[in-house]
Amino acid sequence: MAREWEAVIGLEVHCQLKTGTKVWCGCSTDYDSAEPNTHVCPICLGHPGVLPKLNEKVLDYAIKAGLALNCHINEESKFDRKNYFYPDTPKNYQITQFDKPYAENGYLDIKLNSGREKRIGITRIHIEEDAGKSIHTTNESFVNFNRASMPLIEIVSEPDIRTPEEAYEYLNTLKTAIKYTGISDVSMELGSLRCDANVSVREKGSEKFGTRTETKNLNSFKAVAKAIEYEIGRQIELLENGGVVEQETLLWDEANGVTRVMRSKEEANDYRYFPEPDLVKVIITNERLERLKAEMPESKVDKVKRFVKEYQLKIILNK
Ligand SMILES: [Zn+2]
Repeated sequence: MAREWEAVIGLEVHCQLKTGTKVWCGCSTDYDSAEPNTHVCPICLGHPGVLPKLNEKVLDYAIKAGLALNCHINEESKFDRKNYFYPDTPKNYQITQFDKPYAENGYLDIKLNSGREKRIGITRIHIEEDAGKSIHTTNESFVNFNRASMPLIEIVSEPDIRTPEEAYEYLNTLKTAIKYTGISDVSMELGSLRCDANVSVREKGSEKFGTRTETKNLNSFKAVAKAIEYEIGRQIELLENGGVVEQETLLWDEANGVTRVMRSKEEANDYRYFPEPDLVKVIITNERLERLKAEMPESKVDKVKRFVKEYQLKIILNK
């Protein structure tokens, strides 16, 4: 009898916050239309001796995202350094949140084309900074630091997603929920929303996870669904032929509709995370949380419910 397979998918979504100024300094977040390397200062260029300071607006916006995604907002969280060398990272480390993120245990309810609803868990959301941009021509490489230290949140889902359609609907629902709060443009075209897909397969009924790959370079929700579909097929074929899935970071090749190996996957300890000594702990007071809750606009889910009730609508919207 043919073996039956099941895919296990988790998505990591990066979302740029439109706070107007960067996360640790007062530089403008308008990085694309400005001349290269004009929206920079000693802080976002990582000069020696300078000190970062958390932009309060970044924290407010991040908390609003946490509320929109039904997360628990932690009273105390902290920043950490993720160390790696890359030309577009001026400090040679990224400030992020490692073991104590500001938001955890959220969820989104998605509706599938069949009408079936499903709850997708959100493990955590953390605040971190964006890198600059490398530009490569045939003979030369350039780097533009305008995007360095742009504020980002990373939204990590639970591995609750099973199909490309569920991934697509999760992203649609997430985009709408964030968009309603007004904290981000959430546009994949503009780069203010980016998604990486973790995919593994296992035999149906098995509790154990298979080895997962992470696919990057996904430029649209459709590309996410297509890449996941391809990756599920590739892994099943590999396993059925007696092979093993390697833990790798892959790039989606849109033109050819295939994933390609970018690098073998690094482990968390390769990054030598340690607590960021230049920033104080993040304390979110109850007053702040209540103020932000009061500022939250009505969500799409609540709006649909209210319209159906108030206007006695018979149509149930599923998009
Ligand atoms: Zn700056």
